Amino acid sequence: MLSLTDSVTVLTGVGPKRLTALNQLGIATISDLLYYFPFRYEDLKVKDLSEAVDQEKVTLKGTVVADPVVSRWGPGKTRLNVRLLINHDVIMVTFFNQPYLKDKFEAGVDIAVYGKWDARRNSLTGVKVLAVQSADNPSFAAIYSTNKNVRQGTLVKLIREAFDNYQSVIPDLIPADIRERYKLVSEVELIAGMHFPESYPEAKQARRTAIFHEFFLYQLQLQVIKQADRHVENGLALPYQNAALKEFIKTLPFDLTDAQKRVVNEICLDLKAPAHMNRLLQGDVGSGKTIVAAIAMFAAVTAGFQAALMVPTEILAEQHYQSLQKLYAPMNVTVGLLTGSTTAKERRTLLADIESGRINIIVGTHALIQDAVVYHKLGFAVIDEQHRFGVNQRRVLREKGLQPDMLAMTATPIPRTLAITAYGEMDVSTIDELPKGRIPIETSWVRSNQVEQALSFVQKQLADNSQVFAITPLIAESEQMDLKNAEEIYATLAERFEPQYHVALLHGKLKDDEKNRIMTAFSNNEIQLLVSTTVVEVGVDVPNATVMMIFDADRFGLAQLHQLRGRVGRGKKKAYCLLIADPKNQQGVDRMTIMTETTNGFVVAQKDLELRGPGEVFGDRQSGLPVFKVGDPVADFASLQVAQQEVQKIFTVDPTFSQPAYAPLKAYLAQQKQNYQTLD
Ligand code: ADP
Ligand code: MG
Repeated sequence: MLSLTDSVTVLTGVGPKRLTALNQLGIATISDLLYYFPFRYEDLKVKDLSEAVDQEKVTLKGTVVADPVVSRWGPGKTRLNVRLLINHDVIMVTFFNQPYLKDKFEAGVDIAVYGKWDARRNSLTGVKVLAVQSADNPSFAAIYSTNKNVRQGTLVKLIREAFDNYQSVIPDLIPADIRERYKLVSEVELIAGMHFPESYPEAKQARRTAIFHEFFLYQLQLQVIKQADRHVENGLALPYQNAALKEFIKTLPFDLTDAQKRVVNEICLDLKAPAHMNRLLQGDVGSGKTIVAAIAMFAAVTAGFQAALMVPTEILAEQHYQSLQKLYAPMNVTVGLLTGSTTAKERRTLLADIESGRINIIVGTHALIQDAVVYHKLGFAVIDEQHRFGVNQRRVLREKGLQPDMLAMTATPIPRTLAITAYGEMDVSTIDELPKGRIPIETSWVRSNQVEQALSFVQKQLADNSQVFAITPLIAESEQMDLKNAEEIYATLAERFEPQYHVALLHGKLKDDEKNRIMTAFSNNEIQLLVSTTVVEVGVDVPNATVMMIFDADRFGLAQLHQLRGRVGRGKKKAYCLLIADPKNQQGVDRMTIMTETTNGFVVAQKDLELRGPGEVFGDRQSGLPVFKVGDPVADFASLQVAQQEVQKIFTVDPTFSQPAYAPLKAYLAQQKQNYQTLD
């Protein structure tokens, strides 16, 4: 039986190597492949020479004037030049490193070439040779984001094969009446239209449906969670011991801010009450959300329950584990750490201790929601950097054990209307002040020709026994390039500062335990200068670090710069953020200026909104909103709302999906749940 959950290895030419490459793109099953959508289309239709725009891609058709000339211009590098007659004009076409194309360009043949037009030189840098088309046969090529192990062509071929073989088993998840009402296409048309459109209107129509489809399924999952709430008879009451809680707060190394006290109270009221808690805690970077979570988890433990803290990365899990152990040391609370790199042996003991209740508080990545993890008495679950998790992962966590009370934490302010639609009806607590005595971080914008001064400054800080982050540039869509950059910067800084200081390089390609080792060494001041790609970005807390140096800072968005800057200025010493950038446009200049002018996350978010517009801000991973593949919760807000209404209607009419029209949805939800429990 064909199933969309079949592995892509059923397709022609997908062996272990290609499978790994596809996995890197998040593609494991046929379904993943079919829903791996292009991010744009290329118009391959032949254009008139007069329509060609300088530095843009275009397809031109002409007659080859004379046989092409292939020349070498470096080791292994070739250039093929051929002249093409288009009506009365002659243009030059150049192909790099494809000498074998020579045969296609015999003098006198008609040929179409797709490439980049250079108006000044009257030349086309060829991308591909196309079959000669007639004007009434328009053609579009879908362009996918790929990595160096999977080429466009391979992806297209695989998608085509998957579609041809599996289209008969693609279910229509959106019920027919809804599709009719909103003029949406069927699921098969959606997939075909996204991947192989014959025209722009077709692609547009498919996209419109794909957006609704995505929002619809998202809202469906939110409703499942809400529905589960209603079924928990009276929810869970956690009658915590107030005296013990006060005692614990007294042992903390600092006084809580008023805002922290307020949100602790809000959370504790929810814990004690028999109703089910579903709360969002928002507060700027460095506002001290972790301690609030630690207090609330401690409360749950005094009520005789276990608590869990789920975080998006292993680095963060390790860090929270360390600091919680310290915090709870006087209180007789046992903490466990469970991640993907926990060894099999440790894991066995740990799972047994979680099940027996010997461990009170469990910190971990999404490993916490695997089937194998059986909690003794999980009463409270916290999700840090919650926007980094899918709604399904949250759902599985909350369905663990006793249906725990839930607290989700985020560093980004989210407009209320959006929050309601995107998250369902969460209660919101806000920490709106930073701990007292924080010296504001001083941010400077440094041009690349002043790097030397920046480095002397770093030298002084190091001499002062402080630590330094150096963040390396972000190159769009290529991890490989990011790494190369990081290695170069690392080499330069190591040469300059070693052996007096230890310099280390942290990047995403390292094994998780290696990353943890480096982070721990940095926390312990065994490493003084940490060169890193943005893997350090979320949540990392090293109070002795006083300098955040960001190379090519104009490549980062404001929200991300703010997050990165939030990694310093967490201790008693004055901290600095050095933005090294030579922005190429006004927006880049504006961004650097804003960063030097304010350290308030809310202001930064507001300015970001003004500069980029809501669509882009709330569409990206830093926004605090869930990440959608095709839909944009702001630009497509109407679709999001309609999806919410329609899903609510289904739940009112037929909450168990017993009608035949809803059978595919029922199957889909069951499948989703299973997927998330068998991760890793
Ligand atoms: P975030 O809200 O970004 O997760 P953290 O919880 O990591 O922030 O806290 C940032 C730093 O501030 C930590 O080093 C923490 O120990 C410290 N901190 C938290 N609350 C206070 C407080 N009330 N007074 C002083 N320092 C605090
Ligand atoms: Mg945090």
